[in-house]
Amino acid sequence: MTPDVQRQWLVAGRPAGRPLEPTDFNLAEAPVTEPGADEVLVRTAYLGFDPAQKSWMENAASYMNPVELGGVMPGSGCGVVLQSRHPDFAPGDLAYGHLGWREFATVPGADLAKAPAGVSASAVLSVMGGTGRTAYLALMKVGKPVAGDTLVISGAAGATGSLVGQLGKIAGCRVIGIAGGPEKCAWLVDELGFDGAIDYRNEKVRTRLRELAPGGIDIFFDNVGGELLNDALARLAPRARVVICGGISRYNFDPRSPEMPPGPRNYFNLVFTGATIQGFLMPHYERDFPEADARLADWIRAGRIQARADIQVGFENAPTTLMRLFEGRNIGKQLLKVADL
Ligand code: NAP
Repeated sequence: MTPDVQRQWLVAGRPAGRPLEPTDFNLAEAPVTEPGADEVLVRTAYLGFDPAQKSWMENAASYMNPVELGGVMPGSGCGVVLQSRHPDFAPGDLAYGHLGWREFATVPGADLAKAPAGVSASAVLSVMGGTGRTAYLALMKVGKPVAGDTLVISGAAGATGSLVGQLGKIAGCRVIGIAGGPEKCAWLVDELGFDGAIDYRNEKVRTRLRELAPGGIDIFFDNVGGELLNDALARLAPRARVVICGGISRYNFDPRSPEMPPGPRNYFNLVFTGATIQGFLMPHYERDFPEADARLADWIRAGRIQARADIQVGFENAPTTLMRLFEGRNIGKQLLKVADL
């Protein structure tokens, strides 16, 4: 039975130039709305978290519609269709997409996708959707892996990084991950089959890169920016590809302020190695989404990709769950379980 009233989290602050705070969010009640023409009513089971949500709150991401103060906090989610006025969805379907932080989301069916058969709800958000599309398309279309390449990934034990490493292994690369702490590094090597891992909190990254990538880095997949990017630029192989996917070390700075750290000092190595550096933004690759979705679903079903998620529980914990990403507390995809399926 669908209730009349639900809880939702509203944006109450713009965290530009500082970390997220609990007062940036307001918990409020709102009616559950009936779907209009071509809309679908979904009961949220899981919310998925991405560091970019902070920049959405700051209206710093040009690819997103502006977020109003007092508006529903945007974010991905996955849940069960309760009512549908869209031809592609029927009650009982498992659907995912931009649900926002609310317990019952009424959204255009065109903004949703149906979970593929044989893929669990948490795997849908961990490996399909924005995370999977980003990992697959940024690696394949920008990194262009060739068997035998040395692929180095920053943020390697997070959602995107851990998937990129697994895809790199499928492509025949030597994969080295950079992550914070021994537990994350052990997981990368022992469970995911990475060829090496560097604990950037406790080891000297440049020294370890010299040891683990003696022939240089063919692909650097960057989720972090800052000093880690600078260290990687010092070790590029000839014709290397540097993929700028994320820069979480910058996300607590205001891009317009003089405190914003300058760009990498070692950029001139691009000249000596003939390397390229290219930004990646997932919405620019929309025409390749079906390819990414199909290949990822096949690899999950075949057991070639592990979908590890850090699953917190309780809708009231959404803000603190988002903060975990910036504290490096997640291993794999950060999720929040909101309701049973
Ligand atoms: P995630 O990697 O699962 O979580 C963030 C991780 O970043 C944390 O676990 C933490 O791991 C690390 N981190 C946090 N603060 C750090 C700092 N100051 N320095 C170094 N590492 C830090 O998140 P995700 O969703 O997969 O996103 C990864 C990156 O991809 C983000 O930058 C995100 O914005 C980007 N992204 C880009 C696109 C695109 O289209 N370009 C799409 C999706 C995601 P450690 O413990 O290892 O520090």
